Amino acid sequence: MIKGIPATVNLVRLSSFVLDILTSIIYYKVKMSSLDRIKKLEKQRSRILKQIIAFRSMLPGAYKEVYCKCGKPNCWCYKKGGGHLFRRITWSENGRSKTKAIPEEDIDWIKELTENYREFQKKRRQIKELEGILNELIGEYAKAVIKKSRRQRDYL
Ligand SMILES: [Zn+2]
Repeated sequence: MIKGIPATVNLVRLSSFVLDILTSIIYYKVKMSSLDRIKKLEKQRSRILKQIIAFRSMLPGAYKEVYCKCGKPNCWCYKKGGGHLFRRITWSENGRSKTKAIPEEDIDWIKELTENYREFQKKRRQIKELEGILNELIGEYAKAVIKKSRRQRDYL
């Protein structure tokens, strides 16, 4: 016990000192955890971005196989069920749906390029999602840094 100061005051001072240390540890941890998460997400974002710009060819649209009757009365399909196989690509352009027949030799190419586009769009959504989380974390980080800075002056 310090001479001349009542024990209760000492205890209050001591606990407020301990509390100060504890709060700075907590602030530091919050700051660090959001910083670590920001760095981690940024790495993820950069990895996905590299994958996105690696796509060299793609096409929006859906590959479809349809069976249609040709309408000629002398054709085999006229009375039978089903019809001739048509391979098509359908996509939307300026709000309008477009459909084109695919030449036999382009079937694999079209399938590959439409798949590329789906992957591309998926990665784009992932980037957008990551950026949303990053933005939240940056806000969290800012709050922690501001709090810590304010604690350096009594009037703040
Ligand atoms: Zn026919």
